[in-house]
Amino acid sequence: MNQPIRAPRGVKDIIPPDAMRFEGILRETEEILLLGGFQKVLLPLFESASLFTRSIGGETDIVEKEMYTFQDKGGETFALRPEGTASLLRAAIEHRLADISRVSRLFYSGPMFRHERPQAGRLRQFYQVGAEILGPLTPSDDVDLIAIIHRMAVQFRIPEWTLLLNNMGCPRCRPAYRTALVGYLKDHFGELCPTCQRRMGTNPFRVLDCKVPACQPVLEKAPRITDYLCDRSRAHYDRVREELDVLEIPYRPEPRLVRGLDYYTETTFEFTSGALGAQSTWAAGGRYDGLSKDLGGPDMPGVGFAAGIERLWLLREAARTLPGAGLPPIWVTVFPLAPLARPKALRLVTALREAGIPAVGLFTDQKIKAAFRQAEHDRSRFLAFIGEDEVESDTVQLKDLVKGEQVSVPLGDTLEIARRIRMSLLPEEKEHSGSV
Ligand code: ATP
Ligand code: MG
Repeated sequence: MNQPIRAPRGVKDIIPPDAMRFEGILRETEEILLLGGFQKVLLPLFESASLFTRSIGGETDIVEKEMYTFQDKGGETFALRPEGTASLLRAAIEHRLADISRVSRLFYSGPMFRHERPQAGRLRQFYQVGAEILGPLTPSDDVDLIAIIHRMAVQFRIPEWTLLLNNMGCPRCRPAYRTALVGYLKDHFGELCPTCQRRMGTNPFRVLDCKVPACQPVLEKAPRITDYLCDRSRAHYDRVREELDVLEIPYRPEPRLVRGLDYYTETTFEFTSGALGAQSTWAAGGRYDGLSKDLGGPDMPGVGFAAGIERLWLLREAARTLPGAGLPPIWVTVFPLAPLARPKALRLVTALREAGIPAVGLFTDQKIKAAFRQAEHDRSRFLAFIGEDEVESDTVQLKDLVKGEQVSVPLGDTLEIARRIRMSLLPEEKEHSGSV
């Protein structure tokens, strides 16, 4: 026997009825962004690999270990997108969607690809919804974006959520911090994992992002960026915190929060949840004032975030706020009892759908018992038979599978058929008994 082919490791099919619920999560998340004035951009699933090495940074987990890179037949190197911000910035620059004279609010959603070790909440293909504000920004834009994610936490009733906040400084204050950090890491070289030992020389901030348990005690005592901020970054951080207080959005300062991408400056944040286990972050982002210029675009600040939809699923499942599947139930199963009845059955199914009645045709040589079984499986309310007699008299037998009633209706009178079906589906009028 042939071995069945399975989906690749870490890649999940989303099957009925979950697919509709999943899209419900995407839709509800996007609706919150639309309320915030964001406009959607549909981005390609693959890009030049250099877009990600240039923006995310060569010394990051994503680029170093996780990217699906391939050469196409023309010999060019592409990558399946591991995240959306780089693509969105590329598109914004290419189509002049943003510049320093006005504020642009853009969002995207769709699958991202990272070659990671699959586990709960960590897949190789996963969905993100992400949004970016580009242009002449102030710290209030960072807060506004955080407030939008906060709205999601509240509306979806995310359990046990925490907002972690940091300021990573800017090109003015980072050199001094870098020197202090490298000095400290050198003193603890032997206690660090090989990756940290290497990155210490190339990109020491990445070391703070290390997830290896053995490195954690050293990293906990490392110098903190917030002690090295220049006046402007310090003021930026203070403004963000003051305005979060104004909005009464609670947060926890987390000086080690550098995020796994090189392009961040100033504000970085993560929304986590105690209900998620090890992969606790469900939305994350920050400010990236140098990214547009690095990618050949205008010198323009940006701030953005991305939320992982599979993790939102887990959280909304725990909170019992998963959206419904929104599927219409099937109302009618049309069953031709003989091959010669099939054209009429096809016509009836089509006419019912045109009249807005969800209907399926069952075109099989099996006996009527199979039609009852199928109708039951599909939770269909009516079975419509067309046998040889009905073909002769141009009628259809309409059987209400709940009430057990069966009537003969002229086949051409779709309106009458539709009316009878709709009538039966109306909620029964309650008997009025007793005094009010
Ligand atoms: P992590 O620390 O979990 O590796 P990250 O820093 O790599 O996260 P980002 O690049 O900031 O994650 O992505 C934003 C969000 O996308 C994450 O908070 C998470 O919800 C989701 N996400 C990231 N990687 C995965 C994955 N492999 N599988 C499922 N969701 C993911
Ligand atoms: Mg990661």
